[in-house]
Amino acid sequence: MTAAQSGAIPAVMPTYRRIDIAFEKGDGVYLYGVDGRRYLDFACGIAVTAFGHCHPYLVKALETQAKKAWHVSNLHRIPEGETLAKRLVEASFADTVFFTNSGTEAIEGTIKLVRKYQSAVGHPERYRLITFEGAFHGRSMAALAAGGQEKYLEGFGPRVEGFDQVPATATLKEVEAAITPETAGVLIEPIQGEGGIRAFTPEFLRGLRALCDKHGLLLAMDEIQTGMGRSGKLFAHEWTGVTPDVMAVAKALGNGYPIGAFMATANAAQGMTPGTHGSTYGGNPLATAVGNAVLDLMLAPGFLDGVQQVASHLRQQLAMLVDRNSDIFEEVRGQGLLLGLKCRLPNGDVAAAFRQAGLLTAMAGDNVVRLLPPLIIEAQHINEATDLIEKACAELRKASKPEAPRKAG
Ligand SMILES: *Cc1c(COP(=O)(O)O)cnc(C)c1O
Repeated sequence: MTAAQSGAIPAVMPTYRRIDIAFEKGDGVYLYGVDGRRYLDFACGIAVTAFGHCHPYLVKALETQAKKAWHVSNLHRIPEGETLAKRLVEASFADTVFFTNSGTEAIEGTIKLVRKYQSAVGHPERYRLITFEGAFHGRSMAALAAGGQEKYLEGFGPRVEGFDQVPATATLKEVEAAITPETAGVLIEPIQGEGGIRAFTPEFLRGLRALCDKHGLLLAMDEIQTGMGRSGKLFAHEWTGVTPDVMAVAKALGNGYPIGAFMATANAAQGMTPGTHGSTYGGNPLATAVGNAVLDLMLAPGFLDGVQQVASHLRQQLAMLVDRNSDIFEEVRGQGLLLGLKCRLPNGDVAAAFRQAGLLTAMAGDNVVRLLPPLIIEAQHINEATDLIEKACAELRKASKPEAPRKAG
């Protein structure tokens, strides 16, 4: 009898503490549990399903391509991928794009590109990246080393060399002091997602840009969570007036069909010549057909303006909600529809109460509950969400009877 058959270990490797809910189907902003309950989905599979579930336009794009060709390998040209790359280039600072299957692979490629650039411009000794505490860049060995979180690195042996971490609160002077003759670049999330929706200021990012230029380093951004409309602009760095040299995206790029990308300027990508990088699946016709359909929706005139409007409405409602429930929440933070509620109670308890009330959210570091609603929410869904949160707060209060009296008014 195997361990799985004896029940010693589940057949699905137990690396997640899974919530005991399974979903039967999704429709727009809602998910339907096999238990017959309906949930308002403000988690979006962790910032992935930006257009909700089973968006008819995306379903049609996927079905149409599924009847043509799914996969042909990168040994041949892929017109759908060429189109998607061109459109991403036109919509961004970048000149060139490599498609991956996940965010982690996009980060891995970003790191490789930065190192290869330095080697191509005659500085092979420069291979180290400066990263920030609280960052999350993925789960490959290099991405873990870049993120630097002990709880994820523990037990996995020697960490990949070449990352120097500075505090998220580091000043530009402190970042500059961390630059050595071996430094190749700086890697940063404009807003730390898993780290608790913690934004770097535009001034800081502008300063980083200047530091990189001064020292011949590349500025790399991880926009896997912040990108693809989540912040109210296509990419969050657009709010800051700073562009990176290379950027990783993924999550909402395929609305749930696995696809990521790293995108760079021609200068930054000069080392990425034939044979230097590859992927069997990356950018296959099915993934890039879906990516194109996502861009059709996201780049439609006025769409992102609408996201900004609905986001500011949600933000206002949440700010009032935090005021009314200041025994449970400390503040609301974030940008666009990448929002966090900093909690006074354990965030796991808060997220569980939300779920019990019928609202799905995602936890983050710094005792934050993340609200990552679909970009297609409307005023009625905001009302519904705030009602569910109020309901959850009442339940939390009943359960915990906190010492602090509820603030009047
Ligand atoms: C989700 C995420 C990743 C990892 O992406 P995967 O698709 O899970 O590999 C990396 N960086 C950030 C900022 C993320 O949010």
